[in-house]
This record gives sequence, C-alpha cells and structure tokens, in this order.
Amino acid sequence: MEKTRLSKRLETVAGFVPEGARLVDVGSDHAYLPLFLVEAGKIAYAVAGEVVRGPFESALSNVQEAGQASNIQVRLANGLAAVEDQDQITAVTIAGMGGRLIAAILEAGQDKLKGVERLILQPNNREDDVRMWLQEHDYQLVAEAILEENEKIYEILVAEPGEMTLSAKELRFGLYLQQEGTTIFQKKWQSERSKLSWALDQVPETHRSDRFAISQKIKDIDEVLHESK
Ligand code: SAM
Repeated sequence: MEKTRLSKRLETVAGFVPEGARLVDVGSDHAYLPLFLVEAGKIAYAVAGEVVRGPFESALSNVQEAGQASNIQVRLANGLAAVEDQDQITAVTIAGMGGRLIAAILEAGQDKLKGVERLILQPNNREDDVRMWLQEHDYQLVAEAILEENEKIYEILVAEPGEMTLSAKELRFGLYLQQEGTTIFQKKWQSERSKLSWALDQVPETHRSDRFAISQKIKDIDEVLHESK
C-alpha cells in the first residue's frame, strides 16, 4: 500500500512532532497527519479526533485500509474530548482551523493537557489569539514557522509548558517570525498592509478613531518590515 503523502503545510506540522510522541491530532479529517507519522516510524501511537461524522468516517476507513487501526485510534469527539487518560498523550496537533477555534478547543480541553509536552498549532488566521491563549495559560513558544502553499501563507506555532511575556507586536507578528523576517513573512505583511491601506481609503475623514486605529496598524507593519529587512 502506498504511504500517506502530506501537503507542505502538514509536513511542516509533522516535522515539529517529537520522535516517539503519543499524539492527538484534533480535527484530523482524513487522519493523514497521524498516518504519515506512524508510517514513517516517528511515532507509534496516535488518536485522530474529529467532530464531524463524514471526515471521521473517512479518517476511520483510511486508518483501517492502511492497517494501522491498532496504532491510531479514530474517535468522533469535540476537541480534546477525544483524549482518554490511558492514551498518555504527550503532543497535540491542531491544524487548519481559525485561531479563535484553536484557542477555544485548548480552553475547553485544559484538563486533557496535563501530561502534554508540546502543542503544534497551525491557525489559518488570528494567530495573535493563539499566542495570547498560550501566554495566559503558561506556555512558551519554542518555535514558529511560516510557509506558502497554493498561494496561501500559513503560520505554525510550537509551544511547550513554560512562561513568556510577549509584546503587542510579538503577539501579532510572532516571536521568532519577526526576528527571522523571511521573504514569506515580508510577503504576508506587505499584503496585510495593502488591505489595510485600501480599508483606510474607504473610511471617511470624520471617523477619526477608526482611521487612527487602521493607521496605527499600518505603522506597526512598516516598523516591523523595516526592522526585519
Ligand atoms: N487538520 C486537517 C488539516 O490541517 O488539513 C484538517 C483541517 S479541516 C479544514 C478542519 C477539520 O477540523 C474539519 O474536519 C472539522 O470537522 C474539524 N473540526 C472543527 N472543529 C473541531 C472540533 N471542535 N473538534 C474536532 N474536530 C473539529
């Protein structure tokens, strides 16, 4: 049987899963990520959690067809409710969802995070909300990645238990991403700048506080882009 292949986005997420981790992949859809990791021998045990029946069934049949049903438990569950004590989960992946949903899943499932050593999160937007949740719940960022695939730019946040205090700019632009200032990082924020600049043009001169807020965001982007050059 052919081995599971991943998108560049999910492959980057997989790269942050520690060797030998006991993984829960929340929102596992086709179970591609756990299948890839188990087939590669990087991990031996995973839970694939999925809240919607259709994707749950496709995850289940993929795992069964790959002959991995004893290594990957596929469960129909909301968020971290997929985790049971005996799973002894040490790593969590949540990818391909909005940042607010990821933060809400973590918030609702805090009791399932006790033995977890690493969170690998790939929000499709609102990365600042995820960073804020991590900071407020005693996690520290240990790595970040940014990549482009099919004309979309994705950020990946990797966190472990610990403390951090991020500035407003670090919450928005990232801790490591801002320091590294890669070409893709610059492209993302140039594009955000263009959108904000367009939005500013639509706001009447009389709406001074709205104009100020947008101008401030543009100014922050200009500063960060300038510093990361
Ligand atoms: N993680 C895969 C990826 O990154 O390619 C699938 C991403 S897909 C866009 C999001 C998946 O998360 C969907 O299958 C959706 O049903 C599932 N999902 C959304 N909210 C969830 C929740 N609270 N608990 C479990 N799964 C959830």
